[in-house]
Amino acid sequence: MYQIGFDVGGTNLKVGAVNDDKVIVARRNVAFPKGETYQNITALMAEQVRALAQELNISAKDFKSIGVATAGSIDAAGAVILHAHNLGFHNVPMVDEMHRYFPDVPVFLANDADAAALAELHAGAFRDKKTAVLFTLGTGVGGGIILGGKMFKGGMGRGNELGHMVIQEGGPICTCGNKGCIESLCTATWLIQQGRRVIVEYPISLIHEKAEGDMNLVTAKTVIDSAKEGDTIAKDIFNTYVGHLSSAIASIAVLLDPEVVALGGGVSLAGDFLFESLRERVKEKSFFKVYHEVVPAQLGNDAGIIGAAMLARNEE
Ligand SMILES: [Zn+2]
Repeated sequence: MYQIGFDVGGTNLKVGAVNDDKVIVARRNVAFPKGETYQNITALMAEQVRALAQELNISAKDFKSIGVATAGSIDAAGAVILHAHNLGFHNVPMVDEMHRYFPDVPVFLANDADAAALAELHAGAFRDKKTAVLFTLGTGVGGGIILGGKMFKGGMGRGNELGHMVIQEGGPICTCGNKGCIESLCTATWLIQQGRRVIVEYPISLIHEKAEGDMNLVTAKTVIDSAKEGDTIAKDIFNTYVGHLSSAIASIAVLLDPEVVALGGGVSLAGDFLFESLRERVKEKSFFKVYHEVVPAQLGNDAGIIGAAMLARNEE
């Protein structure tokens, strides 16, 4: 049996058929048609499902389930995308739309960070765990929580917004309007902003050298690599970043006492250099004064598809 998983993002509309071993056996990737009506977008999604069925030599109605992981917020019933600003989605009845095309197939909808945590539970860093937390560190910070071996959907069905836990009173302004949220302090964007400041203030620095003095060439990797190579200014920025991130992890750790915390997104590719200092700082801040297992997420770009495909299993 195959389960369909959609990963709907602002750039790409990705979809895959996942088998019982949780492996993507067929996949399609089309550009997200930004600006189109949601009816046209869901028609395009239905077309992809049919194409996958054809590729697998089955009928589309034989798919066991269809799951959609999307950016943005969804309603408590898990049927409507309330707002996904970068997709231009407002009040999109995604589950009903999919049912119009595939009335016999169960359809599920979730936020993409929640789905990514579910994917790690079934096929990645959270296998055989019951309590786990995923932070995805990119231009924003997403969070997914596994509780009791299930994706936690929030007490009222609104999910979690881990990225908007405030960890610094009066900190930088966040996309949500508050100040000092995890999202304003732990993103790749924060590292890039700091790197750009260095370009202006310190013409003799490794960050300046690596980015050839061009602010547009500064990435999170520029800053982290410079710190790795021992540049003092970059090390200061990196240590501050680890300070923020360890506060976020230590806070969620006192709340949930998770078996494991995983980090996804571009920043997590920094490897041991990041994870070793992070584990030290989390231990210092931990009420329990123990090492919490903090590891890289395993599924990378496939997390959305696999997680979406597993949404049906979360209801079992
Ligand atoms: Zn916020």
